[in-house]
Amino acid sequence: MIRRIISKVFGRKRPVSGANARILARTEHGIARERIDACALKVCETLSASGHKGYVVGGAVRDLLLDKSPKDFDVATDATPEQVRKLFRRSRIIGRRFQIVHVMCGRETIEVTTFRANGQKEAEDEDERPTDAHGRLLSDNVFGSMADDAARRDFTINALYYDPAREEVHDYFGGVKDCRQRVLRMIGNPETRYREDPVRMLRAARFAAKLDFRIDEATRAPVATLAPLLANIPRARIFDEALKLLLSGHALRGVHQLRAEGLHHGMLPLLDAILDDPAGERFITAALKSTDARIQADRPSSPAFLFGTLLWPQVLKRWHAIEAGGEKPQPALFQAMDDVLDAQRNQLAVPRRYDGMMKEIWALQPRFDQRGGQRPFRLMEHPRFRAAYDFLLLRCEAGEIDAELGDWWTRFQDADDDARAGMLLTDSGPKSRRKRKRRKPADPAPAGAQPA
Ligand code: ATP
Ligand code: MG
Repeated sequence: MIRRIISKVFGRKRPVSGANARILARTEHGIARERIDACALKVCETLSASGHKGYVVGGAVRDLLLDKSPKDFDVATDATPEQVRKLFRRSRIIGRRFQIVHVMCGRETIEVTTFRANGQKEAEDEDERPTDAHGRLLSDNVFGSMADDAARRDFTINALYYDPAREEVHDYFGGVKDCRQRVLRMIGNPETRYREDPVRMLRAARFAAKLDFRIDEATRAPVATLAPLLANIPRARIFDEALKLLLSGHALRGVHQLRAEGLHHGMLPLLDAILDDPAGERFITAALKSTDARIQADRPSSPAFLFGTLLWPQVLKRWHAIEAGGEKPQPALFQAMDDVLDAQRNQLAVPRRYDGMMKEIWALQPRFDQRGGQRPFRLMEHPRFRAAYDFLLLRCEAGEIDAELGDWWTRFQDADDDARAGMLLTDSGPKSRRKRKRRKPADPAPAGAQPA
C-alpha cells in the first residue's frame, strides 16, 4: 500500500531487473550476419530505414548461439502493428488479443511483434495485476519498451535480441552465459512466472529436452507443486504444446523429462500406465525414437501417426481383453479403438480431426497378417498403406509381433511380379473367414475391411 502511494506520488515504475542490456559485439557472441535469414534481414533493414528498431529475437538467436539452424526467424520492433503493416506490401495483421504482423517474403513468413510488457509492469502491487485466483495472467496486451519485452519472456536464453546492422546481441538477463553453460533459467521469480502462465512448465521440459540443457534448481523447484495448475489451461493449448514437444526431434528425452517433473499428468496422463508396462514402454520408445530420427532427417511426421502410437498400447490391451471375452478379432479391435478414443478425450484432448487417420492406421494392422491371394496387393493400394506399414515395423521392433512379418512386407514391396508370386502364402486363418462370409452373402463386410 505504502509502495503504491509512493509510486503514485513520484510516478516511479517498478524497476525491471535487466533494464540495462549487456551489448555483446560479434567477437563475443560469434553470430555472423550471413547466418540470418535473408527475409528477416530485409525486415530489420526496412524497419530501421524508417526510423524504427528491428531485432531478430527469441529462439533464432538462441539456436544460432548454439550453432543450430533456427527453424524460424522472429523479429521484434518498437513500431506498432499498423506501422509495420504499412511498411510491407505483403503483410497482414494476425490475432485479436495481441496483434502480430506476418510479413511474407517468397514462400517464407516472418513474424513481427511489437515490444510488449507483461501487464504486471503497469501495476506496482500484486493485487493490481490482471491475474486469476491462481496468479494466471489474464492479459498481456500492453505495448512496452525493449527492456519490458525482454522481461516478459520466459527463459534467459529466449530473451536475446540480435541487431543485424551492428552485429550486436542485446542480452538483458545473462542468456548468452546460460547458453554457454547449458542452463535453462527462468527470468524473474519462477513461481510467479509459472503461476502467470503454467504452460511455461511444459516449455521448461521441452527446451531442456530439445537443447539438452540442465534446468536451474530455482527454476525446477516450484514445478512439483505447481504442476496441477495445468488443469486450468485450455486443452487446445496443452495439445499444441504436447505436439511441439513430440515434434521437437527430441521426443524421447522430452517425454521422460515430463515424467521426471511430474508434468505428464496434465499433458499425457496415460504415460504412467504406458511406461510402467514393459511392452508399452518398448513400443513407445521405438515410436519416439523413430519420430526423432525422422524429424532430425527433415522428414515429415504426422501428428495422427504420433498420437496413434501413443495410444496403441492402450488399444492393444483393450483389444485383447475384448477378444478374450469371446468377440471376433476385427469387431474387438473396432470396439477397443472407440473405447480408447472416448477415454482419452477428457484427458489428453487429441482433437477429433486426427481420429480418422489414427483409426485407419490401427484398423489396417490385422490385414498385414493376410498374405495370400490378392489381399497383399489390395492392401498396398490403400492410401494409408505407407503409414500403416511404418506402424507395423514399430510393432515388430518393440517385439509385439514377429519381426518376420515386417521383413516379409519390406521384401514384398521391393520384389518384382515373379518374386511376389512366389512369396504369397496360403493363408488359412483369413480364408476361413472369407468362406464364412460367402455362406452369408447378404452380410455387410466387417467395418474394418476397408476403413473409410
Ligand atoms: P522454438 O525454436 O521451439 O520455436 P522459440 O523460443 O522460438 O523456440 P516459441 O514458442 O516460438 O519458442 O516462442 C517465441 C518466443 O516467445 C520465445 O523465445 C519466448 O521469448 C517467447 N515466449 C513464447 N511463449 C512464451 C510464454 N508462454 N511465456 C513467456 N514468453 C514466451
Ligand atoms: Mg519459434
